[in-house]
Amino acid sequence: MLAPFCIELQNVTKSYQVGTKHQVVLQNLNWTVEPRQVTVLLGVSGSGKSTLLNLIAGLDSPDEGQVIFQNEEQCIDWHRLTDRERTRFRLDHIGVIYQFFNLIPTLTLWENIVLPLDLASAPPAREERARWLLQEVGLEDKAQSLPQAVSGGEQQRAALVRALANEPSLILADEPTGNLDQTNSQNVIDILIRLCEESGATLLIATHAQELAVRADSIMRLANGTLCLQNPHAA
Ligand code: ADP
Ligand code: MG
Repeated sequence: MLAPFCIELQNVTKSYQVGTKHQVVLQNLNWTVEPRQVTVLLGVSGSGKSTLLNLIAGLDSPDEGQVIFQNEEQCIDWHRLTDRERTRFRLDHIGVIYQFFNLIPTLTLWENIVLPLDLASAPPAREERARWLLQEVGLEDKAQSLPQAVSGGEQQRAALVRALANEPSLILADEPTGNLDQTNSQNVIDILIRLCEESGATLLIATHAQELAVRADSIMRLANGTLCLQNPHAA
């Protein structure tokens, strides 16, 4: 695994133009996501959590400002890379988990899991890791099932294996429990945090669910385009 980097947002602004309406979603944000920590990004629906995660994932670009990835060896100005370089880096070092799982419906759970490993030309040991992760999340019997044949909780656990298989140093989870019942939510979060802590990866979870914040090392709240540190006891 690449040494986890700290993610520094410097004066990040992002707005959307829909027709004549100009909406500023993120306004001049400055924030550092600490490496190897579990950070929860709280905010009501529409506050800009997905927008912020997409900027960090490099799936979208800020209007102004920089996103810098920095570790002991390198310092990357994320949006200065070419699309190709960003895609390559994301495949190799970032795992993303979505609310609606985003599994390909025509592929089995196992095929979904190994597809990004193939795209990244990952070493064979990563496939071994994926097998081990499947056992860790209790899905070894469902590997050959199609997503539609398993429950939402099982689909999300498969998506979690897909995100973690290539030993990413950063995991971005956007409302990972938003489509799960309470028991499955707790289960998915427990597994996600345990596996990230074991591998030493940085975990950033965006959620509107306050109860997920109790497990965080740090909690940020996004509101009105700005971020503030939230007291864990107030979460
Ligand atoms: P959250 O994830 O916190 O629910 P989002 O980041 O999805 O919030 O959205 C923040 C705001 O930006 C919302 O008002 C949303 O309607 C708007 N928005 C998000 N994506 C787009 C887009 N591609 N085009 C126009 N408006 C968008
Ligand atoms: Mg969202």
